[in-house]
This record gives sequence, structure tokens and C-alpha cells, in this order.
Amino acid sequence: MDPITALLAQVLDDIRGDDRGAPASYIPELATVDPDHLAFGVVGPRGRIRSVGDDEVEFTIQSISKPFVLAHVLAQRGLSDVLTRVGAEPSGEPFNAISLEEGTGRPANPMVNAGAIATTGMVPGDDVASRTESVLATLSAFAGRRLRVDEDVYHSESSTGDRNRALAHLMRSYGIIDAPVDLAVETYFRQCSILVTVRDLAVMASTLAFGGVNPVTGDRVVQERVARDVLSIMSSCGMYDFSGEWMLRVGLPAKSGVSGGVLAVAPSQFGVAAFSPRLDEHGNSVRGQAIVETLSDRMGMHLLEPHESISQPIVDVSETSDGRVIRLSGELGFAAAERVLVVLRDLATMAPKDAVLLVDGRELARTHPAAMVALRSELELLPGTIRFVE
Ligand code: GLU
Repeated sequence: MDPITALLAQVLDDIRGDDRGAPASYIPELATVDPDHLAFGVVGPRGRIRSVGDDEVEFTIQSISKPFVLAHVLAQRGLSDVLTRVGAEPSGEPFNAISLEEGTGRPANPMVNAGAIATTGMVPGDDVASRTESVLATLSAFAGRRLRVDEDVYHSESSTGDRNRALAHLMRSYGIIDAPVDLAVETYFRQCSILVTVRDLAVMASTLAFGGVNPVTGDRVVQERVARDVLSIMSSCGMYDFSGEWMLRVGLPAKSGVSGGVLAVAPSQFGVAAFSPRLDEHGNSVRGQAIVETLSDRMGMHLLEPHESISQPIVDVSETSDGRVIRLSGELGFAAAERVLVVLRDLATMAPKDAVLLVDGRELARTHPAAMVALRSELELLPGTIRFVE
């Protein structure tokens, strides 16, 4: 077992004994699950899936579908348009609260049911089947395999979904939903009933972690900006009315669902997912949260603690007939640009008067605009001849 899988297995063992909470029962079909299921998976930058526990068990995605349908709609309509129909503020209320903005009828955010139904209402298509297909295609691209709907859970959701229907009727009366209510809610019920394993969720999380590119398939699923927008909303609204404390304790954008899944994203590092059906009073998986929190602690993943720059530019200095060449590769962000400048300052001050320094940035995989502006302007202030090749 490699060291990271061993760490996952250790975390799983440490929290296994916690049997607090109970599986969701408001949708009858969800109550039939084995409450002891426990699984955990991570996917890193090279797309290797590491998972432990019941990692082949399928369960319905439920609310974890919400950020991905949001991504789907953002990719098609853009942020400004989406924000006219659904807000981006944490509601501090339970996921199924009947609360809409006064006057406009806009739901608080796309992670509570009302907001998610409004978001699903924006998916194009003439009927439930074509709308579901368009959602399924996007979620499958995020997961890297073809996903499908659990028909029993769907029927159970639909036959007990009056509260969600009521929310949709209210929103339609405000013009937040254009589609007939049934089109929006039945698509929403089907989207919640899509079957996944913890491995699928870890891959889906990693696609958000790596700017919209699925690291397993190598396919770009959404633009980097869309992934960033989705993660921003997950950061403040992903864990129902526990989102603030979750950010405080764990420090990672996340989303949970009532079937016991939890997915979290460490940008540029890992996609993480856990599954355990027993829920706490907020509707979040008790052990799923504990798994992600323990991993975040042990690996120092909290977003707001100081981080070592993930990829530093490699500074390689060589003498050529054109002058001294300083080769940069990897990612050039603000902190990295500072480090490069320190080296360049030394080299430029020590160099003979007529020496030429060539900074070769052609191998930089990624540059941040502000870092480039800072680097260029500082280079001009250094003594001697310095040329920057991009
Ligand atoms: N299908 C569920 C509902 O809308 C999703 C809830 C959830 O996972 O939070 O009731």
C-alpha cells in the first residue's frame, strides 16, 4: 500500500467506530440503505484514484449534484445571467427552507433546494428526458464515466417531493423559473437520483480542483472560471446551515448530500470524497465530515493557512554564446516571481558591465498576470542588459 492510501486507511479506521446519527428517511427509498457503509477516496493531479472502504458501493448523489448542475448552467449562460435568478449568499437556513428574497423571489444560493431547482430550471431541453440527459452528460464528464439514474429513488423522491414542488410553484410565480414546474422539479429529482460511488465523487471533486480539467480523462469539462465560481459558492454555502463552521474547521469548499456523501476540494492538490449514510441534525454525514476534517488537519489543507507555493519555477542557470541564460519552468505566481527576482538581482549585480542576462520563460506552464507585470517592471530597474524571452 502506498503512503497516501495508508494514510486514508488510517483515517478511516480512526473514525469507523463513530455510529452517531441516522440515515435520511424523509425519502423512503433512502432509509433502506446499509447505515454502516463507509468509504473514502482522493484523486490528485495525475489522476490516480486512491480509495478505501466500500468504494464500489453506489448511492444517489442527492445534493452533491447541485454544484455540478450549477457548473453546467454557468458554462451555458454566464455568471451575471445566472445571478439574476439565484443569489450567492449563505442562507443559514435548512436545505429545504421555504425562503425567497423579498420582492424578487430569488432563492439565496444554488446549494439550497430552492436555488438548485431554479438552477435546474435553467437547463435547456423540451422535456424531462432531454434535460436529464444534458445534466447526465455533464455529470458523467466530471466523473469520467457514464452515470445513470436510480429509478426507485427517483420515484420515491417524486412521490414525496411536494415541498420542492411548492418551492418551484412559488419561484415560477416570480418568474425565477420559466419552465413548467414539472419540467424543473422532475429533472431535479432525477438529477438527485444519479448513482455514484465514492470514487466517482472524488474524480468529480478533482475536476473542480484542477480548474475544470478531469485529471483522469484529461478532458476539459468546464472553463477554469466556471470551476472557480462553483468553488466560491461551495465555500460559503456547501454544507447546509453548517457552512460557516465547516469553513472555520476544515477550510475547504465542500458539498454534502442527504444520502451520506461529502465531497471537498483542495484547489490544485486533491479532490476528496467520503461516504457514510448516518447524518447529523444539519443533514451532513457524521463520519464523512470527520474523514474530511481529519484529512485536512493531517495534511495541512485548510485554505486559509499559509501554504508553500505548490509549484515553484525551477531556476536553472547556464552559460551560452548569447549570454547567461536563466530558465524558468512551472508556475509563476506572485511569490514565485519574488524568488526569481532575488536570484536575478544577485546575478545582475555580480555580472560584468557588458554581460547579457537572458531570462527564458518559454517553459512556464502558467503565469499569473500580476506576477508578470511585477517581474517585467522590476527587471527594468536592474543593472546591465536583461532580456525576457516569453
Ligand atoms: N433530493 C433531495 C431533496 O431535494 C436532495 C436533498 C439533499 O441532498 O440535500 O429533498
